[in-house]
Amino acid sequence: MARDANAYQRPLPKLRNSMAVEFYDYCKQHQLRFQRCTDCGAWRHLPRDMCAKCGSFNWEWAQSSGKGKVFSWTTAVQPMLSQFADMVPYSPVVIEMEEGVRLVSWLTDVEPDDLRLDLPVEVVFDDVTPEVTMPKFRRAD
Ligand SMILES: [Zn+2]
Repeated sequence: MARDANAYQRPLPKLRNSMAVEFYDYCKQHQLRFQRCTDCGAWRHLPRDMCAKCGSFNWEWAQSSGKGKVFSWTTAVQPMLSQFADMVPYSPVVIEMEEGVRLVSWLTDVEPDDLRLDLPVEVVFDDVTPEVTMPKFRRAD
């Protein structure tokens, strides 16, 4: 069976039976939102039921500024999956958002050799399939 050469071949988030469904629903609307406790105000990511700071189960999806900085990264010179073979070397990056939460993502315009700690970045949205939009980041300085 022939594959559509233009089809997105890389792994996608599993969007069933997960609180991440709502996170990605907002991404599809090009909004970056994280959970914020409505009792103590603590932000959190990955999505979960309870606030780790105060134990509250009350929360909202609060809009992020979309701004953050490079917290860490690793550079792969051998692809972990064959779908990434055309990308090596590539660098999954941990972004620390202004709100304090961290997420693993990609930089769209920075090569691995140009990465540096605390590099200011801002979110961009990549509609990788009709159903899934991935939050990625670009240099903001
Ligand atoms: Zn709390």
